[in-house]
Amino acid sequence: MEEGSNLLTAHQSFTEVRMSQKVDYDIGKYLDRLYEVYGEIDHAYKESAVYYGFSCKGCEENCCDTVFYHYSLVEYFGLLEGFEKLTEDLKDRSLERARDYVRELNRHRGKESLIRIMCPLNYDGLCCVYENRPLICEIHGLPGELHHPVKGREGFEGCSRFGKTNEKDGEKVIDRTPFYTRIATLESQLRREMGYLIKFRKTIAEMLIDGDLL
Ligand code: SF4
Repeated sequence: MEEGSNLLTAHQSFTEVRMSQKVDYDIGKYLDRLYEVYGEIDHAYKESAVYYGFSCKGCEENCCDTVFYHYSLVEYFGLLEGFEKLTEDLKDRSLERARDYVRELNRHRGKESLIRIMCPLNYDGLCCVYENRPLICEIHGLPGELHHPVKGREGFEGCSRFGKTNEKDGEKVIDRTPFYTRIATLESQLRREMGYLIKFRKTIAEMLIDGDLL
């Protein structure tokens, strides 16, 4: 998933979030640690991409049109911080696209793997919140594995383009475990601080629409 060019250059802080009518939370410390993890994922991804000679450039099967659900509040706030850096015009257009996305998605709930809807933050094949995109957006595409303490090892083959173009043995696998573990730790600390117990499961489009309501 490639980098877009619509980010504002000036840094805008997004460290306080109002979750109710009464309480503000300082989430900056969680976001700083989240971005450290993102930086390490980026490094692991690039190292693997170099090994395989893999690139998303020119791919006609943009994976940003796959329906992914995201499960963490901390990544939700990370995404919203990226969204806040966009121009007002781009934010408005993205929210409009997000509403269209959810309307389309609602017609296919339960059969998400069968449909393709472009993410409202993808413009001309480029992600406009590249630095703040969630873990799955960062790591999708190349072979990976996840070691779950109960379920054991789960393998990921990489995207269809990788399957079609790769000629190497596939031995280089990105271990997602430390990244997931650290984000899960942040998530539980943040939730504890906020007293937030509700299950989180949202597409990017739903995150944007909900973010507009905060
Ligand atoms: S946030 Fe949307 S546009 Fe950006 S990488 Fe993820 S799916 Fe693609």
